[in-house]
Amino acid sequence: MKITEVLYSRMSFSFEVFPPKTDAGMEKLRTALQHFYAYKPDFISCTYGAGGSNAGRNVEVCQAIKEDGQTEVMTHFTCIGNTREKITSELQHYVSLGIENILAMRGDLPAGWEGTRGDFSYADGLIRYIEKEFPDFCIAAACYPEKHILAPSFAADIAHLRSKQDNGAEFLCSQLCHDVEAYKAFIYRIREAGITVPVVLGVMPALDKDAIIRMTVSNGCSIPAELAAIIGKYGEDPEEFKKAGIEYTIEQIFRFMEAGIDGLHLYTLNKWEDVETILDGSGIRKDI
Ligand code: FAD
Repeated sequence: MKITEVLYSRMSFSFEVFPPKTDAGMEKLRTALQHFYAYKPDFISCTYGAGGSNAGRNVEVCQAIKEDGQTEVMTHFTCIGNTREKITSELQHYVSLGIENILAMRGDLPAGWEGTRGDFSYADGLIRYIEKEFPDFCIAAACYPEKHILAPSFAADIAHLRSKQDNGAEFLCSQLCHDVEAYKAFIYRIREAGITVPVVLGVMPALDKDAIIRMTVSNGCSIPAELAAIIGKYGEDPEEFKKAGIEYTIEQIFRFMEAGIDGLHLYTLNKWEDVETILDGSGIRKDI
């Protein structure tokens, strides 16, 4: 099923997982998936190692979700370091597995790279190619509520986002964003710019001080005063930080839902116990 079918009828609810590197990690993820299914997500997305690293495991995870038959799957995909031929064969493989949803991106350029060293320079070209050659895919694109870190200006970034829509992106998945007001302003700006497709909000739970600072800062996102205060108060105590961070994440989910979002996409970091605490606290309860 195409994810847009849900997005045009109601708010979607979904998870993101990443492909583990080892067989033991894969076993753990299979257990985690069983727990995630209990919350009846509309879909689960699986990240794609930059430049195709660990791409085999991405396929393994997508195939496992598909075969479990409990929810839809969306694969992430990037074009850096990827030729048209290789992209074509990877996409054909997804199609053969029955995967219908794809988040098509450029990928981060590794240090020292001038361009993508592949046949597509930006996501919009990849999206155009998928739309033309694989018209049955439901295509999503990445968006950045606080601007892509390397974009010269917000206006330029939004113009590039518009190009992704115009080339075939049917919905958008956002980078993590802790700032509700910034998110609302972003939605206003993109609607003004003629971007009409639904936007799924990405929520990164605050579970670990170093990880949340690294992920937030490296993506050029802001840390609101409330989160900064938690970092300051519990930064030296991982257990207490996690408790306060989970509480903060639950409140954030409420705030964003109150602000009005088209979809809620939780970055699970493959940690089902913490995800359960967050979802039960948010009232997004599983069927027992
Ligand atoms: P683009 O849309 O190509 O944009 C990249 C930069 O170039 C931006 O600054 C943009 O403003 C600019 N730009 C775009 N088009 C043009 C143009 N035509 N001319 C000039 N400038 C242009 N990475 C992974 O490796 N694997 C993943 O699984 C993954 N999942 C992600 C999931 C989400 C929800 C998000 C938000 C990001 C994810 N990323 C992932 C990271 C992503 O690959 C990086 O943010 C990457 O730097 C940009 O990808 P993009 O598709 O947005 O690029």
